[in-house]
Amino acid sequence: MMRIIKTVKEMKAVSSRIRKEGRIIGFVPTMGALHEGHLSLIKEARRVSDVVAVSIFVNPTQFGPEEDYKGYPREPEGDRKQCKEAGVDLLFVPSVEEMYPHGFLTSVTVAGITDVLCGPLRPGHFRGVTTIVATLFHVMQPQKIFLGQKDYQQAVVIKRMVEDLNMAVEIVVLPTVRETDGLAMSSRNSHLSHRERQAASVLFRALQTAHDMISKGERRASGVKEEMRKMIRTETLVKVEYLSLCHPETLQEVEGISGTVVIALAAWVGKTRLIDNIIVTAP
Ligand code: AMP
Repeated sequence: MMRIIKTVKEMKAVSSRIRKEGRIIGFVPTMGALHEGHLSLIKEARRVSDVVAVSIFVNPTQFGPEEDYKGYPREPEGDRKQCKEAGVDLLFVPSVEEMYPHGFLTSVTVAGITDVLCGPLRPGHFRGVTTIVATLFHVMQPQKIFLGQKDYQQAVVIKRMVEDLNMAVEIVVLPTVRETDGLAMSSRNSHLSHRERQAASVLFRALQTAHDMISKGERRASGVKEEMRKMIRTETLVKVEYLSLCHPETLQEVEGISGTVVIALAAWVGKTRLIDNIIVTAP
């Protein structure tokens, strides 16, 4: 039986009891409109925890004033059904007032690694993410949390927060689940028109090309980025916001490629902003 919980008070009481019983809580935080990417996290949580807890909360503080908070896809019924079928034990679906009650004044900020990639383009975004994740940790009390590589920078930022603040939680990052043409699954893909959806697959092809170039010996980041831009330009519906070859932990831009690098991008496909990345180790 899946239990649906709406209040912090009840959620905390339930997670406290489970912890007292010595059982392992595996937690998957989401914003809902669930897809195979989310389900892969739930499946792994199911495999390695006693109790699987999922939260669905479209977190207003991680959206900028001009961003798609209102238009973000919401599918509460479909989500509930998918969670039930995936064997979720606890589904936490709080309201905004429940997570940010009147008088909420605190935020958690990770410096430095939030000043690159998506950081400057989405001011306040990562502060919103770390604040809600820290809050959810105290409510859900998980021993393990499951994140997707799709949001690479988000995972790095959350890892840093957990390390710096000595939070007692193990972070598991799982590979990006993709559509058959390579497009990374995302709740926002539902906003794409048929033509945009087709055009969007160029992003993964560009990442694959980058991977191939590095495998064949290319060691200049500029050469890789130039080739990627050239490819993406062939799709007039797709506009690159940034392209980066960066260090997997510091997220600092690299010029010469050696060891492992992350190739990360953000692009607009029509009015929809998509991100994707791959991790490449130079031979
Ligand atoms: P979201 O609901 O988009 O905030 O995502 C919730 C969690 O699911 C985050 O840890 C994401 O990184 C992860 N996620 C989203 N899309 C995918 C995907 N295509 N493959 C794997 N994980 C994903």
